[in-house]
Amino acid sequence: MNKITFGSIVVETTRRCNMRCRHCLRGEPQNKDIDSAYIDALLNQADIIDSVVFTGGEPTLNLDAMEHMAAELINRGVLLFNFQVITNGLEYSERLVEVAKRFREIIDICCESGFAKGTYDSKQEVSRVIIGVSLDKYHSDSEECERNYQRYKMELEGVADVVKAVNGNTPVRMGRAVSLLNATPIEYTIPAHKKQSIEVLDKTHTPVCRLRNNFRLIDFDQRIVCCTLVLGVDGFIRSGTCTSSSYEIIDGFPKVCNVSDSIWDGILAYNKGRVNCSQIEREQMETILKETSLGWN
Ligand code: SF4
Repeated sequence: MNKITFGSIVVETTRRCNMRCRHCLRGEPQNKDIDSAYIDALLNQADIIDSVVFTGGEPTLNLDAMEHMAAELINRGVLLFNFQVITNGLEYSERLVEVAKRFREIIDICCESGFAKGTYDSKQEVSRVIIGVSLDKYHSDSEECERNYQRYKMELEGVADVVKAVNGNTPVRMGRAVSLLNATPIEYTIPAHKKQSIEVLDKTHTPVCRLRNNFRLIDFDQRIVCCTLVLGVDGFIRSGTCTSSSYEIIDGFPKVCNVSDSIWDGILAYNKGRVNCSQIEREQMETILKETSLGWN
């Protein structure tokens, strides 16, 4: 069976965390780390991954998972073009610096082999490796985190784009943020996300969404997953639409399949009765307009 080209994969490395932020959409931490066998099972089915995002909890509490993926990408010859991790920055990690350098090397090799000869310039493509440090107004201990952000920036100059992650400034009402008065409600989004299909491209399927022009088949038998997928600590694949959610919502979100099963077949079965993102957006807009009595015209 042909391997799969993945657009973006989010890997939930751990549900542990060394902070207790009051806006945390995940909720209370859990003592769970991803098993490296799940990463192997994913890579066994992949030939190319455009982008890997490591998430948590606090991802640096399970650097083993990132080191394992780096080693196994090389062992299996899986191509990778982008890497991202967001840390809370509470503890400076030399190992994270080494991990970022390792992924930089892998991505440079993949890009040099994938781009037209002589056209790839690593210095112009620093943002293919992103280290985000959460520095929104709710993160406690922000002075220490700010110092560590500056250290990462210095240590990883020319290797990674070290950026301030400030999404937390606009919290959503889930996890520990349910009691935050200014958090955004989520009534519309989660039910819609559960109805959303995962767009794929192969000789018999064409994505119907606005992403469709970003993907094209390089060979006739190629199989591409266009939408983001999540590999959870429990070893299940879910739609990437559940990424920014509480653990409770993620766990209750429909599963595509166990990562050890055929992800492609799992997606085709999952998509039955689901609709693409453009249709979801239209339905949501119609609901909002109906509720505000504006109508389409
Ligand atoms: S927001 Fe991030 S750093 Fe803060 S408690 Fe949640 S997972 Fe931990």
